[in-house]
Amino acid sequence: MIKNIINQLAEDKESYFNAAIPPIFSNSNFLFSNVDDMRKAMSSKNSNPFYTRGSNPTTSILEKKIAALEGTEKAIALSSGMAAITTAILSQVRSGDHIISIERPYTGTDRFMKEILPKLNIEVSFVDGSKTENFSKAIQDNTKMIYLESPNSWTYQMQDLEMISRLAKENKIITMIDNSYSSPINCNPSKWGIDIIIHSATKYIGGHANAMGGIICGSNHIIESINNREFKLIGSVLSPFNSWLFINGLRTLNVRMKYISESAPLIVKFLEDHELVESVIYPHSESFNQFELTKKYIKKPCGQFTIILKTEKKSKVEKFCNNLNNFFMGASWGGHESLIFPEISRYNNDSEYYSKTDFLPHNYIRFYIGLEDTDLLIDDLKKSLESIG
Ligand SMILES: *Cc1c(COP(=O)(O)O)cnc(C)c1O
Repeated sequence: MIKNIINQLAEDKESYFNAAIPPIFSNSNFLFSNVDDMRKAMSSKNSNPFYTRGSNPTTSILEKKIAALEGTEKAIALSSGMAAITTAILSQVRSGDHIISIERPYTGTDRFMKEILPKLNIEVSFVDGSKTENFSKAIQDNTKMIYLESPNSWTYQMQDLEMISRLAKENKIITMIDNSYSSPINCNPSKWGIDIIIHSATKYIGGHANAMGGIICGSNHIIESINNREFKLIGSVLSPFNSWLFINGLRTLNVRMKYISESAPLIVKFLEDHELVESVIYPHSESFNQFELTKKYIKKPCGQFTIILKTEKKSKVEKFCNNLNNFFMGASWGGHESLIFPEISRYNNDSEYYSKTDFLPHNYIRFYIGLEDTDLLIDDLKKSLESIG
């Protein structure tokens, strides 16, 4: 129901000449001609904008639409997914607190938890999130937050959101989830009691690889408090132009997710059946070891999976990747373009950020299926696999 009205929601067309698309309020400042109007705009209870690092009419439209899609009271947009994650975490913990996180969250989150939070004397325990009892075992007197990503990046371990949020509530612990994998179309964690939901809007919400942004969704209480303090003071403001691009992205989000839900499983099936592919890790495959949890929490198949090529030879993995014509290599995903991220690209780069043990094996390749014709992509994979056969 909400999906059908999302294109109209929060748009006040009459106030801008019935234009089909809302204008970009590209201004930093809003002006006042008497003290009382200015005082009212400055009060957080008033919805009139005062300064774009606080509220902006174009961005507010985006925020209202995403809150409605996620089924939360409110949302706040920020300049990147990482800004959303770090701002939301910092809003909930202080020096001396403890966080329980799933292991292998998104790489940026992992690094924030390992490199920045310890500087603030905030301790993080990483647990295998596929078993709820791992969270209960890790709870300490100072545990303030449970951090989830279901499925997590690359290895796609699902978490039982309902059970974990129950456990957290019993122990007065706040729960937060990175829901980028599913988009607000395919999973709404607030339904299962999760308190804070973030998205990298850079991915599915934007959908065209043309803008970076992030969003935090939650109750009025949580979002207003983040808005008044961490958001304004850390200052990761989303550009109104990007808000406008994300509003455009939302117009087709449902249709894009539907196409991907049909295309990706066909491609996975082709790869699963291929003799040069050892296995495919895809939460929506019947052979996936937590398929029941996927069915419970994610409405339709999504576009990301990881394949493990059946070869010991690094040169063959690279040849397979290089020979693809319709998949580019890149860091991101969620756009129109199909992508691979070969784990082998992390090898031999003397990176200061990864220790050798953090790498997955060299024959792991992450895939993202975009909006191209399914047969075209399968044909491309077939030819490239043949070239290393
Ligand atoms: C890309 C990504 C992020 C970070 O988002 P940015 O917009 O790049 O800052 C966070 N979580 C997941 C799962 C991602 O894929």
